[in-house]
Amino acid sequence: MSAGSRTTILGLIGDTSVIDEEMLESLEFVESVKRIQEPYKNANRKFHPKDTVIDVGGVKIGGGNFAVIAGPCSVESKEQLCTVAEAVKASGAGLMRGGAFKPRTSPYAFQGLRGDGIELLLEAKKETGLPIVTEIMDISHLPLFENVDVIQVGARNMQNFELLKQLGKTDKPVLLKRGLANTLQELLMSAEYIMAGGNEKVILCERGIRTFETATRNTLDLSAVPLLKSMTHLPIIVDPSHATGIARLVKPMAVAATAAGADGLIIEVHNDPPHAACDGAQSLTPEAFDELMKSVGKIRNCLEEG
Ligand code: PEP
Ligand code: MN
Repeated sequence: MSAGSRTTILGLIGDTSVIDEEMLESLEFVESVKRIQEPYKNANRKFHPKDTVIDVGGVKIGGGNFAVIAGPCSVESKEQLCTVAEAVKASGAGLMRGGAFKPRTSPYAFQGLRGDGIELLLEAKKETGLPIVTEIMDISHLPLFENVDVIQVGARNMQNFELLKQLGKTDKPVLLKRGLANTLQELLMSAEYIMAGGNEKVILCERGIRTFETATRNTLDLSAVPLLKSMTHLPIIVDPSHATGIARLVKPMAVAATAAGADGLIIEVHNDPPHAACDGAQSLTPEAFDELMKSVGKIRNCLEEG
């Protein structure tokens, strides 16, 4: 405490994450409240200096382990999924993605194969051995995700706090994507919701934010990667597909994200992009994905050589 003739300053130390600043500020004898320490605790690197490494069926992400998740925007058929999965595996992807429940701007657009899509992902997993990553949109669907390896929370649900709380009670790794207009602190507070429930397996994903620029689908905020690394011990991956929305920009941005220190990438790949049910314009062909992996590999080698 520091008492002056007109003002008294009170300093609170220790775990202040549960302090409600607005409540304190509403007291008539309080002039202002300033938080010195970050409001996130479990995700904070200060309290957990070592990088978190998340192991998904033997594929490690974080702490120097780099993993690539690749696959179509949405699951369309077993043939499509298996063709893409085999190809991306051969190019070095460690995990496969595919949306079964799709968050679409229009209710008239393809909404995904839903439960059947998850079945197809599990079949593709059986054939390729690649762990699967797929998005949850409603907690009532959780039983369908029993055999899913990584549950994705999409940008639109980053602040669906009830969903985050429920995922905190599971022991599945969660891929948490940054919201369209959310700050890094808000992203970490969302991670905190999952971690506060006991699930420490959170992978963060920078996928572009909404700005005034319309030439790209979003604006990829690559400074988020080194910044998040200083703020948190959680792994951070980058999604250059949704960040740019343009297939030819995906490789350069994947290379840049790797150079910026990302722990991995998530890339949309389709066997026939012009006919994709969703996000064809940003989807790479398996051949283009193979080229991307070669370039990313070169950057990884440079980083490892120091
Ligand atoms: C996705 O990865 O399929 C997706 C919908 O991405 P985002 O939530 O980042 O828009
Ligand atoms: Mn997509």
